[in-house]
Formats: sequence, structure tokens, C-alpha cells
Amino acid sequence: MLGFYNEYFGTPYPLPKLDSVTFPGAGSFGAMENWGAIFYFEPYLLLDPALSTAQDRQEIFTIVAHEVSHQWFGDLVTMRRWDDLWLNEGFASWMETKASYVFHPDWNRWLHAAESRESAMRLDARASTHPIVRKVKTLEEAELAFDDITYEKGSQVIRMIESYVGEEPFRAAIRQHMRSHAYGNAITRDLWQELEATSPQPVTAIARDFTEQGGVPLIDVLSTQCIPEKNETRVLLRQGRFGLDEASKLPRSWHVPVTAGVLGSDRVTHQIVHGGGTATLNVVGCGPVKVNMGESGYFRTRYDAHSFAQLEQSFAGASAADQLGLLNDSFNLSEAGYLSMQSYLQLATHLTPSSDPVVLLQFVRSVLALDHLYSGLSSQERYRVFARSKLSGLLREVGWTAHDGEHANVSILRAELIQALARLADGPTLTEARRRFAGAATDPALTPADIRKAVVNAVGSGADTAMFEELKARAFRSEDTTEKRVYLLAAARATDSDTARRVLELALTDAVPEQLSPNLILAVAEEHPGLAFDFVVQHFDAVAQRLDSFARIDFVPRIAANGVDRVLAQKLATFAAKSIGAAGRETVERSRSLIVFGDEVRHRSLPQVDAWLGANK
Ligand SMILES: [Zn+2]
Repeated sequence: MLGFYNEYFGTPYPLPKLDSVTFPGAGSFGAMENWGAIFYFEPYLLLDPALSTAQDRQEIFTIVAHEVSHQWFGDLVTMRRWDDLWLNEGFASWMETKASYVFHPDWNRWLHAAESRESAMRLDARASTHPIVRKVKTLEEAELAFDDITYEKGSQVIRMIESYVGEEPFRAAIRQHMRSHAYGNAITRDLWQELEATSPQPVTAIARDFTEQGGVPLIDVLSTQCIPEKNETRVLLRQGRFGLDEASKLPRSWHVPVTAGVLGSDRVTHQIVHGGGTATLNVVGCGPVKVNMGESGYFRTRYDAHSFAQLEQSFAGASAADQLGLLNDSFNLSEAGYLSMQSYLQLATHLTPSSDPVVLLQFVRSVLALDHLYSGLSSQERYRVFARSKLSGLLREVGWTAHDGEHANVSILRAELIQALARLADGPTLTEARRRFAGAATDPALTPADIRKAVVNAVGSGADTAMFEELKARAFRSEDTTEKRVYLLAAARATDSDTARRVLELALTDAVPEQLSPNLILAVAEEHPGLAFDFVVQHFDAVAQRLDSFARIDFVPRIAANGVDRVLAQKLATFAAKSIGAAGRETVERSRSLIVFGDEVRHRSLPQVDAWLGANK
């Protein structure tokens, strides 16, 4: 990796050695990029052949790529103030994917990175968002700056700019940046100046629009019209704003580098779309037009009904990246009320077991996200019949056992399917997981590394008191902190609320390593937000003792953020007024808005899902 970076940055790594140091435990972050001696918590560096999955291998590779790139971006050249933290973190988050792609193209980390783009957009499409570059005045504000806007939006904006100016001119600017500021400090504007000097295109307007104001642009495709005599399609577009609440829908303008092309063609049209008026793009060829080809742009796209129907019919012919973009955009546009959830479900009917495994992962996650919204509703069981049948169909194709030479991402899909089906209380999956879990002591072949964690997690999801005791006993018997962690986190997934309460109580005993307690509580909160919230508020002093200073500010809002019930939003407000200082206000507002949004989506989208299920039996 050092060799690759020496070449990329054009300034060789200047120290005589680079150590990777690891130690037990876990914090609210994975590693720290000290110059010449990177520190990692164990799960972020060590691979255990008996326990590590394909996902662990990819994530560890990515985190190492991230930290090593910091030896240049962060250490050799450091941002002048915290305001420009994104220069370090956005850049390293972009580079981790780029480097992974160079060394392991088959992992297709750009497809996986779409998930990070989604988490950034979920924050960025709210009133509580902030620009990538922002004033940091206090230590607390600096700590809060380490969020998905800084890392993931930062990374996506860099990717968009690189794809707009081209790989070579972009790298030339980075090399200049290293030469000009080595052993010194830099600010965001320095990078734009260097880019402006090497780029054939003017870039500052795009870069400033995306880094100095928050929010997510929406590109509306108003119409697509084939002009047969010219063999081109005229695409009428308008730039607007994608928002999840009223305040985040207020108009805002960006210079958006838009690409478009006919599916299946490699002729891509580029144009900057700016401001509120309409813009026309002429795309070569006739057929379904896809905007944001390859999905390197940071914006959402909404199509008029005719263009969307054309894309839906040709979905199978789109690249994996474009399929994933269409699914993500239509799911999120539906949640936000721009489309009906039926559009998303309709699109997803075109997925098959031979679709790209990372695209299928999006489907698995969206099935679970909808299921979470159904929590406590009587219509949940009917939805689950549909969800279980779809996912168990996929698991049947993928199988419980890896095939020789199968793609690494299939292994990730298998593990996710097992865990998802267990969350959906799928009887056959729970039975098979318990069989393998029980038999593994005498026959380790029942739980090969790539599914071992998934099996333990599945057993955890379905755990009753007896199984909780078993997981606990196995955790305490183990000398290995990684293994201990696996058993305890599995128990924290219990869907049964009595078991979940036992896990919360266990988290505050001395038997659990201090740094693991917050992770256990957060894991319980995914399934039982209300229960975890009440428990944490009741035992706040004991919980706070186990948090590092990063986590102390936003721990309680993070617990509540899993809720979809306004009662929890009210409880959070009451707690915050009493116990969370000014520094935490932003995260409280963020969580409140997530809960209220979840409640809105329940009322808006679930009736659409129910109607679709009724019509598509
Ligand atoms: Zn970093």
C-alpha cells in the first residue's frame, strides 16, 4: 500500500518505518493515524481465520487503506483548523475505496460505498444538516465534527469532482498540494486553487456549492423525447432540492455536474445544471435514459412516469452501479413522499438471484428497514410473510455453504441473509442456525468462518433466557476479546424483550469489558429503542462512566434515533432539556427529526406497501 501511495501522492513516505499497533477493546472509532505508528482497536486490524468473514477482510483492508493515506493527508499535510477536518477525513474515506478498488477490484468497494452515500444523504437532507466546511469554535464542536457529513459526504464530493475533472488532472493537483504544504498546514481553498490550475474544467463553483452549503440536490427529469432523425434523446431537467423535512426543501442552488446516457450505451453526456430553470441535455441514441451514469454524482434523481417506466422495463440491462442508484433513489424518494413506495417495490421485482450481490444487499436492508417501521403494527405479520418468502428464496439460491471459487461479495450476502431472516423470525432459518450452533463444538465444519458470526447472531436474534445464558457462558469462557464480543453482541440482538432487558443489565456489570458496554446498549437499541432509552436514562451515571468523551455528547440521542414513535421523541426532549448541554443540541435535533420522520413514513408508506402486497399476491 505504501508503494501505491508513494506513487499516487508523488511524495514518498518520509519515515524509516510504519508500525501498525493494536490493542484490545473498542471505542467509538476504529483507529488513529499517528504518524509512523497507527493504532488500531483489535477488531479493526486482526483477522482470525476461524472467526473472520469476507466482510471483515474487506473492512480491515479499507480501514488500513484509510489510515495509511492519512500519513499524507492529515499527517504530512494537516488542516489548519478543525473547520477543514473534511480535508483529512473526506479525503481518506475516498482514498480507502479507491485503493481497495486498485488492489481488489472484484470486491467492488465503490458499490459498497453507496451505502455510505446513503447515510450521508439521510443526515444531509434534514434541517439539522451543516456544510462540509464549517466554523468549529469549541472542543465539543470539534468532536461532533467527526460525522457522516465530514467523512461520507466529503468522500462522495471528492469522487464527484475527480470524475468531473478526470483522474489524471485530479492526481496532479493532489501531488501539487503535497509538494506545496508538506510539513505544514492547508485550508480547503488551497486544494481548489491547485485543482483549478490542473483541471481542464472550472471546478471552484461546483466545489464551493457542495462544501460551503448543506443539503442534497434533486435532479428532476421532466421528460425524455427521442428524435429519431438525429438519433438522440432530448432530456429536459430541472435542479431542485431533496429534503426530508419542510425546512430542508427550501430552494437552494448548486452547480451540479450531471451525466446522462441511454442504458447499454457508453456514450455519456456531461453538463453542469444550475439554478431553478430547466436545462436540456442531448443524449446520443434512443432508449431508456439514465441520469448520474455510474452514480459518481452526489444528488438524487427523480424521473417522470414515462421515463421511469422505460428504465424499469430495462432494469436488468443496467450496470450494477446504475441498478443500485435507481433502487436507492426510488426507496428514499418514496420514504420522503416524492414517489409511492410501490415504485420501489415494483423496481425490486426485477432483481433475481443472479443480480449483483451488493445490489441484493440493498434489497435485504430495505426489507429490514420497512419491517422496522412495521414494529408494533398488526399488519407486520402479513408483510413478514412477503419479506421471508423473498429473502429465503435468495438464501436457497446462495445456500448455507460457500461454493468453490465463489465471489467474496456472495459470502457477504449469505451472512446478511441469514441474519436478516433471523430478525424476521423465520422458523426454518432459526432452526438451521440453532442446529449448526449446537453441533459446532463436535463438528466445526458446521460453522465455517464465513457464516460463523451470522449463525451466532441468528441464534442471538431468537434467544430466550436459556440461550442468553448459553451465549453469556460462552463469552465468559473465552479468553479472546474478539470472540467474547461476538457472543455478547449476538445476545444484544434478541427480539424478545425480556432477554433484551437482561442484556442491558449485564452491560453495566463488571463482567463486561467497559468499552464493550456502550456497544451492547446500542445493539439492543436497534431492536428495542424505547427499552434501551428508558434503561440508559435510569442508569445514566453508570452508563456515562463507560463512555469516552466523543460518545458522551451524543450517546442518548443515538439510542433514541432508532425509534419510530413520537412518544420517544418527547422523552428525548425532556431528557435533553435537563441533561444535555448546548454542544449536544444538534445531535438531539437530528435524532428528534429521525424519529418524527420514521413516524411519518409509517403513516405514508406502509399503506402503500400494504396495497401493493394486496395487488401482488
Ligand atoms: Zn480518518
